[in-house]
Amino acid sequence: MTASSARRLVLMGPPGAGKGTQASRLAEHLGVPAISTGDIFRANVAERTELGQQAQRYMDAGEYVPDEVTNAMVADRLAADDATAGFLLDGYPRTEAQVGELDRMLEAAGVSLDVVVELTADVDELVKRLLGRAAEQGRSDDTESVIRRRLEVYSEQTAALVDVYDARGILVRVDGLGSVDDVAARLLDALS
Ligand code: AMP
Repeated sequence: MTASSARRLVLMGPPGAGKGTQASRLAEHLGVPAISTGDIFRANVAERTELGQQAQRYMDAGEYVPDEVTNAMVADRLAADDATAGFLLDGYPRTEAQVGELDRMLEAAGVSLDVVVELTADVDELVKRLLGRAAEQGRSDDTESVIRRRLEVYSEQTAALVDVYDARGILVRVDGLGSVDDVAARLLDALS
């Protein structure tokens, strides 16, 4: 598998590991859309849509939005024309139920994931990064207690999911510490 031949990817990793930034860069490099569930939720919150109203209280508490809501949103997004030839999912799947649902969506479309990348990082570094980002962007889910809760939820509900993909032989682990350029280079290297 080379970086230019992977078309269907998932980027996993704890909050603050730099997923969003790396997802946009990598997706651009591969010529596939980056699909960030967090970004889609935030846009819906900003636009005060019904979906935004459903999601906001969970996001503000650092909890996951319910699977039914999230799965329906992703199914809808993956059905769009620009995602038929490939996509990079950022922040999905995050629960076992989402892994199963993604499998079903892809199977129904006759396709499968090429690679799942896990960006790894140390917890103290993550808290530091997230607090820095909170100061810059003013995200309502970036207070210290919510940050700690988000990391807890990640380790309880999401961290183990990488094993599922590891068992399928499609997991690649990449160290998320360092500058954006360093990590981006490491990612491309790991995919080649
Ligand atoms: P993120 O920007 O990826 O850190 O996502 C921000 C917030 O959106 C998360 O803390 C969750 O509340 C919600 N969210 C994003 N993706 C998912 C998902 N796959 N499942 C449930 N909730 C999600």
